[in-house]
Amino acid sequence: MAPVNKSAQPSVSFGFRDVSAEEKPQLVGEVFSSVAERYDLMNDLMSAGVHRVWKNSFVDWLNPQPGIAHLDVAGGTGDIAFRIAKRVRARNGVADITVCDINTEMLAQGVERARKRPAPITWICGDAESLPVETASRDSYTIAFGIRNVTHIDKALSEAYRVLKPGGRFLCLEFSRVTAPGLDRLYDLYSFKILPRLGEAVAGDGAAYRYLAESIRRFPSQKQFARMITDAGFSEVKFRNLSGGIAAMHSGWKV
Ligand code: SAM
Repeated sequence: MAPVNKSAQPSVSFGFRDVSAEEKPQLVGEVFSSVAERYDLMNDLMSAGVHRVWKNSFVDWLNPQPGIAHLDVAGGTGDIAFRIAKRVRARNGVADITVCDINTEMLAQGVERARKRPAPITWICGDAESLPVETASRDSYTIAFGIRNVTHIDKALSEAYRVLKPGGRFLCLEFSRVTAPGLDRLYDLYSFKILPRLGEAVAGDGAAYRYLAESIRRFPSQKQFARMITDAGFSEVKFRNLSGGIAAMHSGWKV
């Protein structure tokens, strides 16, 4: 019989490091607690505002209709939820929008934003891998720049499938694999040399933004991720690249 290595633990990635599955949520939690207050400002600075264009394209593809029950997971400070609320309002309707995030400090920033510009959003604390949400209760599910941070992506995808109604839509926005020739070297230079310095100067945490760059490189390619979404049970899985593959949107349906 082969010897059993009792000390071996299943490892997952935390940036370029491999850590135990028990350690990762705490490490990710520290990253977002550390940057929560400066998160929105950093997004604008590090992407020169381009994240807004990506998020608008994401909500365009979702095309939210009045009356939907929508869940935005890893919703943080509410960037996607506020856009959905605005889009539905422009159609003279309302939607039932819930933001779920594991980090209370990120949620607190969202609640504060909602105080200044009221929107019909419910804020709940929960893990994408075991959502505190009823089975088959949502018409649509979004996750933007969140799934890369969860410990078990397959569990988060199964949960997305569980909470959607039959006919419901899954949509993910995430950093992805650069496909535009020549852009990769420039992007690496920016990600590893400039971004951590910007993070240090603005958010006081260069390591958090080094983690961002590293975790992007460890995330599956567009095609690999599409395969994972299909394996979770979704149909008609498609993706669209944004800015030469720096980010990508993936869509799937629960039939
Ligand atoms: N969706 C927002 C946006 O696009 O601006 C926030 C994205 S932020 C990069 C990632 C968010 O994922 C953080 O708010 C973090 O707390 C959350 N997160 C990380 N792991 C999570 C998990 N297992 N379950 C739910 N949220 C998680």
